[in-house]
Amino acid sequence: PFPFRFSSDNKDAVAANIKKRNSNANLELVLELYHRMLSLQKLIVTHRKQEVERLRGERNVVANKMKGKLEPSERQKLIDEGKNLKEGLLSLEEDLLKLTDELQQEAQCIPNMTHPDVPIGGEDFFNLKKYGSPREFSFPVKDHLQLGKELDLFDFDAASEVSGSKFYYLKNEAVLLEMALINWTLLEVMKRGFTPLTTPEIVRSSVVEKCGFQPRGANTQVYSIEDSDQCLIGTAEIPVGGIHMDSILAASLLPLKYVAVSHCFRTEAGAAGTASRGLYRVHQFSKLEMFILCRPEDSDLYHEELIRIEEDLFSSLGLHYKTLDMASGDLGAPAYRKFDIEAWMPGLARYGEISSASNCTDYQSRRLGIRFRSTEPALTNPKKGKSSLAPPEFVHTLNATACAVPRMIVCILENNQQEDGSVIIPEPLRPFMGRVGISEPT
Ligand code: AMP
Repeated sequence: PFPFRFSSDNKDAVAANIKKRNSNANLELVLELYHRMLSLQKLIVTHRKQEVERLRGERNVVANKMKGKLEPSERQKLIDEGKNLKEGLLSLEEDLLKLTDELQQEAQCIPNMTHPDVPIGGEDFFNLKKYGSPREFSFPVKDHLQLGKELDLFDFDAASEVSGSKFYYLKNEAVLLEMALINWTLLEVMKRGFTPLTTPEIVRSSVVEKCGFQPRGANTQVYSIEDSDQCLIGTAEIPVGGIHMDSILAASLLPLKYVAVSHCFRTEAGAAGTASRGLYRVHQFSKLEMFILCRPEDSDLYHEELIRIEEDLFSSLGLHYKTLDMASGDLGAPAYRKFDIEAWMPGLARYGEISSASNCTDYQSRRLGIRFRSTEPALTNPKKGKSSLAPPEFVHTLNATACAVPRMIVCILENNQQEDGSVIIPEPLRPFMGRVGISEPT
């Protein structure tokens, strides 16, 4: 699944890319392990051939015995040879398994290549677009925690007792707001040709890994289930990515566009010290995720489409935001290019990330085995006019947040608060909530 041939043939470019992305992947080691694996595979093939020869010899011996021509010493020699071959083969196969495992672990760290327009840097970005400007308040601004307390919208204390810190109960209009955000966003994205899905929220660790996430390890963001090979999903990108794994799709089906509604579970390991008050950073949240599988030549175009949809959704909700072209050091392994959107959050008095749209090109599809075959036959020998089906190619995959509910609730409450302590609901959500605002309970 990993493009070894490409990495071997383009060693300098791949090494430069690893450096550009501040990755600590070890290309030299990956290529060395790869070549060792190839040699071992060849050796095993040779051993297998020898085993076949031996079995043939044994069959001849038996045949000769039937004809009364058995030489006992010859028979013993063959038996000993067979035993040695079998033991040798077993140990080679064990070595191959270990080597393949090590190779997979190391190859997993090698990031995708990088779009030529991506700004080079660490946790940097290039501002692509700004929509609106921060609202100016004529009264002291409350954050979402204070608003939630006064309007009786959350219970963090009970959730902390029941589940632990960074869990929450939504109450009253906050529940309606979550449902309204989900329903409105779902319909908006469906209008743009996306197929709705709800997904399994427990998946195999192997699928998590193939999508480019680390299911285990010290700093993993993934909750794994003890005594099983399964994990809780951190994003619907994983089950949606897996929906077509190990298949060859007809080119006429592409692009496949999905919008998936799921809960997301994240350990948030290593998030200490980053903005995390209240709903901003929690262990469980609802999210709508868009996911596209397309022909390679179309993925830049669909990346633009995804960001336009996000911008449309957020401006319809009256948010003030910035669209960012994320720098090479902040892309994570799977993304070739990533656009984040940050919205103004008055309680934090700064912008906070509300969405992320990535073009993962063939990084995930190689690992998941998702290919497509053009229906056009490829001409293999133009002189003879012979034709055959075109060889299958890997699709490109893209993912983008349509609505990560908790941060949308933060934005809506904080940006739409009124001097009397009430909150006005953005117009598109009102029919889904059956009210225009949230007022203090009487
Ligand atoms: P990601 O899949 O990491 O790109 O996250 C997608 C979006 O989910 C982010 O842009 C945030 O809006 C939201 N998000 C990510 N992690 C959390 C979290 N721990 N709690 C609340 N929202 C989150």
